[in-house]
Amino acid sequence: MQRKCHRCDRLFTPDSHSTWCADCREGKPVEPRKTKEQIEIERLERLEKAFKYTRYCIQCGKKFYTNDTRKVICGDWECEEKQRFELRRENYKKGKEK
Ligand SMILES: [Zn+2]
Ligand SMILES: [Zn+2]
Repeated sequence: MQRKCHRCDRLFTPDSHSTWCADCREGKPVEPRKTKEQIEIERLERLEKAFKYTRYCIQCGKKFYTNDTRKVICGDWECEEKQRFELRRENYKKGKEK
């Protein structure tokens, strides 16, 4: 079982009853905790590297990442539903014109 260090908040495997991890007991400086924004920026950078394309969802305008050239909507269920509905409506219109 891992324990959360009371000094630096990192998880560590306790080797004694100490509530501090080995690094803290040695008196090593605690790395400042990342802010939410930093974590978010890093997450986006990772995504940008992992996927080929950065797109904006045509339904909600949200930025999303994909490797699929044809993908134009984000993965949200609501957007997919809307998109399906619009395609159905278009197909229906086309069908009528014939
Ligand atoms: Zn610690
Ligand atoms: Zn969307």
